[in-house]
Parts: sequence; C-alpha cells; structure tokens
Amino acid sequence: MCGIVGYVGGKTALPILVEGLKRLEYRGYDSAGVAFVDPGGIRVTKSKGRISVLEHQINCSEGATTGIAHTRWATHGAPNDVNAHPHVDAAGRFALVHNGIIENYAALRTYLSNQGVTFATETDTEVLVQLIAHIYDGDIERTVKRALREVRGTYGIAVIAADEPDTVVAARNGSPLLVGIGDGEYIIASDASAILSHTTHVIYLGDNEVVRVSPDSIRTTTLDDIPVTKDIEEIEWSLDQIELGGHEHFMMKEIFEQPDALRDCMRGRIVPEEGSVHLGGITDVARELTRAKRIIMTACGTAWHAALVGEYLFEDLARIPTEVEYASEFRYRNPIIEDGTVVLAISQSGETADTLAALNEAKERGALALGAVNVVGSSIARSTDAGVFLHVGPEIGVASTKAFSGQVAVLAMLACYVGRRRHMSQGGASEFLTALSRIPEQITTILEQDGACKAVAAANISRENWLYLGRGYQYPVALEGALKLKEISYIHAEGLPAAEMKHGPIALITDQMPVVFLATRGTQYDKIISNIEEVRTRGGRVIAIATEGDQQIERLAEWVINVPDTIESLQPLLTVIPLQLIAYHAALLRGCNVDKPRNLAKSVTVE
Ligand code: GLU
Repeated sequence: MCGIVGYVGGKTALPILVEGLKRLEYRGYDSAGVAFVDPGGIRVTKSKGRISVLEHQINCSEGATTGIAHTRWATHGAPNDVNAHPHVDAAGRFALVHNGIIENYAALRTYLSNQGVTFATETDTEVLVQLIAHIYDGDIERTVKRALREVRGTYGIAVIAADEPDTVVAARNGSPLLVGIGDGEYIIASDASAILSHTTHVIYLGDNEVVRVSPDSIRTTTLDDIPVTKDIEEIEWSLDQIELGGHEHFMMKEIFEQPDALRDCMRGRIVPEEGSVHLGGITDVARELTRAKRIIMTACGTAWHAALVGEYLFEDLARIPTEVEYASEFRYRNPIIEDGTVVLAISQSGETADTLAALNEAKERGALALGAVNVVGSSIARSTDAGVFLHVGPEIGVASTKAFSGQVAVLAMLACYVGRRRHMSQGGASEFLTALSRIPEQITTILEQDGACKAVAAANISRENWLYLGRGYQYPVALEGALKLKEISYIHAEGLPAAEMKHGPIALITDQMPVVFLATRGTQYDKIISNIEEVRTRGGRVIAIATEGDQQIERLAEWVINVPDTIESLQPLLTVIPLQLIAYHAALLRGCNVDKPRNLAKSVTVE
C-alpha cells in the first residue's frame, strides 16, 4: 500500500534510495527504512516517523551499491521502529520490503515457529523473509519464488541477500512495481515518481512476475520460472504530475482509487459462494457481538454518515437495535450502557478526539468497544477491545472519499458476519456478498461518467444553495453529498430525508435551487418520484442519481447520472460516487483548494 525503492548499480545506493523515499512521501506513511548489502552483511536502519529523521540515523558504508527502502503504511502491527520495513531474518542474511498484505501469515508464522524460527515483529511481512531464510538454497531468485508459492495475499516486494551482494529480486501480485532501467543500474519502485529523476525507461511487472536485477543484467520470469519478455516503456508524465499518480488532486486520485481500495478492503474477508465473512480482528469477541442487545455507533462527520448506513444494515441483516450518535454529543451525555451494549467507533484516522473520548466513555461504562478505522496503530485502534481495519490505503485529501466507502463496506461485512450468526440464511448471505463483491467493478463504470458530473457542477455553479434528498439507505448518502459540496466548494448545501422536505425546506425551493435526488430503484422509488414532482412543480432544478435504464427519470430530471443496479442495501456505495465527483468539480470551478479546504484538517484531534 505504501512505497518501495530498490537500487543496484555502480553508484552509491544511499542517496538514490533516500531521494526515492522522499518522492513517495506524498502517499502518506508512518515509518520508513533502508537496508544495504555491506561487506559485513546486511545493514538496516528504520524508524517511525519522517524520512528526514531516518536520514540522519542511516549507518552504512559509503560505498554500498545495492539496497532496498520502504515507506510503511501499517496494516498488521503498530507503526513503530520494530515493525517498520525492511524486515530481516533471524540471522540477518536477508532483508525484504513489502507493500500489501500476506493473508495467510498466521499459518506461515505457526509453521515457522514450530520449526524454531523466532519472530521480532508483529507484521505479516516478517513471515516472508523468515520463510526465505528458512528455505534458502543458495539462489535468492529461486528461493523467493519457492517462498511466494506458499503465500496468499497481495504483495510488491524487493529482497536482498548477504551472499549475493549485487542482486535485488522483486516480485508483484496485486501491488504495483516497476523497474527503471539506467546505464548499468536498475531502480525498482512501487511508483514511477521514485525513479523519474534518474530514468524514464521502465518495465512494469505483471502479477505473479519476478524480476532479478544485477548491474549488468535483468531477467523477468513468472513465479513458475517461465521467462517473460518485457517491453521497455517510456514514462511520459512529468515528476510533478506523477506525484499525484497523474491526477490533479489527491481527492480525485482517491475517488478514482475506490474500486481498488474496496477490493483491498474486502480481500480475504468474504467468500460469496459460501455466504461467509472472515474478520480476524473480531474473532475473539464474535460470541459477545452475536448476543448483543443493542449497538451504538459513534463517529463524526463523514464517518457518522457511514454509521447511519451501518444502522440500516445492522437492523436489516443482524436484527439488532442500532443507534448512531455524534461522538461529541455522546461523550458529554449520560449515556445508558446496559448489559449487552456494543459501541462501535468509526474513524478514518483513528485519532478523532471526540470519537476516541466517546469510545473510552462507553468502555468505562462496561460496553464492548469495537472500532472500524483505517490507520493501524492509531489511538482508537489501540483503545478498542476488537475491530476491523478499513485497509483502503492512506487518504490524503481532506474531504474523505474512499474512507467513506471503506467504512460502509466494513459495516456491510460486519452486519453480514453478525447476521449470518443470527437470522440470515446461507443463501441470503451469499446473495448479499455476491452483490458486495461486484461493487468495485460497478464503481468503475460510474467513474466513467466523470464528464457528466462535471457538467452538472458547471451548469449549477452560480447557485448558492443546494438540497440533497434521499430515502432509506439513500438518506445518509444525501447527507454525505451535501457535506462534500459544503466542505470543498463552500456552497451551502443541506441533506435531508426526502419526506422531510414538506415539513419546512420546501419553502426554499425556487428555480434557483438545484435539488439532488437519490432516486435509484428500491422500495421507496415511487415515493421519491412524488418528491421529484413536488420540486418540479415549484421550479426546482432536479438532478437525479438513478438506476441505469430508468426512462421515467429521464423525463423528470434536468440532469441524470446513472449508476448500475445492485441490492438496495448496497446502493450507497454506488450513489455516493457521482456526489463526490460533483462536489470535486464544483470546488474546482469555484477556484477552491480541493485538497486543503479552508479551516479544515484531515484528522480532527481536538474537540
Ligand atoms: N502489511 C505490511 C505491514 O503492515 C505492509 C504495509 C504496507 O504496505 O506499507 O507492515
């Protein structure tokens, strides 16, 4: 999920690796490290925090010309000095950096422990370097392949070995990796920005491919040792652009990352055909959670909207009474926590001060404390009894996008996990999870309508007040759409349950008022159509987010953005996407700083 750099060639590796790491900083990270092959063996320096701090600690002989480096975004194990990459085996003969998740790390760790291997870190990654050391047969490339055949999960890796000082072996499965080709040198990286100042000639590794580089040779093979001929490609982007992966802003990048982010979030966790959900982080509390009498979800901002979707999901799928509380209110009330109450704190950063305080308040009163957070090792993650990480990768844009969809996806998996243990049939769970597994590809088709979303924003850009209306599962999406618009474009917007419009807000509707309807097919479709008619009658400008193929809406709305069909409970994962895009374009058209909106911070660590 974060950054890899590797070097082999005639130059001193250190400055090239450190520069590469700095180029990857924009992705966000919690710790960093480097390893070199020195005459005395492998030398590693790693530490929590900034690369500038690491730089001053690096200890290697001036001349080391082979090395690997990493910026970590922790998924397994707290972000600290020990868990930072590179990882080394017990004898210090091999070093490895890894992006991604080794899903079967627990089984491999047990196997190796039984063989007498001792582990130094809490990470999933360490099993891989220990396995390589354990089965090393004198050829690092061959050994890496043998080790990877035992691994399930996603990885981009780079490995060095003390006994083969002029070699770096790298491999990928589901996590990007490329090799920059220089004059008598190769630079491996997870992102082209790390190599662009040295070369624009690259090969991109494919899944299940392994590359071995030495100063005078490069060889790419499959995991099964079949040679692969790779085309050398030319990077056309400039450094400036590529730091954002070709996107103009982090927000746009993160919106477009959502299909992959959700795949990462669900990877290894759902088996649709079996109707089963596997959430390692809550196994220990599964019985208590299954017997819960009441669930309180607590959160702030966008996470609070995700929690509202979670409320509907939990009541529908698990049949447990569920409430959603603003963390800032909950912590100062005198909340009633009875036997069987479970409190679930939801936060992207895991550092949201109010949410942390609400969680601690609930814990003191005896609730089972669960978390759904993105950042491993964060305060909320550490304070909970158990939890589920979002695994959507670092979110840098202040306006949350992929974290929202990750939170909804986690809540969907969690509700199904509990539901299956209570009332849901296997068939019902299977149907739900099949629909969930299709969401990433469906989001891709919505992203193709970016131009249409931009047109909606452009046509309404001079309007100062917008309304967002939805019913049922779409009500939280209406709130989230309005919040997105407010926070980055500074246009006033309000989200409401559509039926509430008649109880006051309808007074605002004129031909100056864009009204966004979440009007997908579902149990309340006819009702929402009536609401659209009410707005039309008063001259309001109707923007509809509708299900593909809905011709009725085409006649009623001035603008229609279509989303593919899915089951009603998962529609929020689709309908939120055009609202994110509309907000993004509105902000740009108004000349706002999309990634750093005024007065806002990414992680609200104060009350
Ligand atoms: N899963 C690994 C860890 O937690 C790699 C994380 C990353 O991709 O940065 O250490």
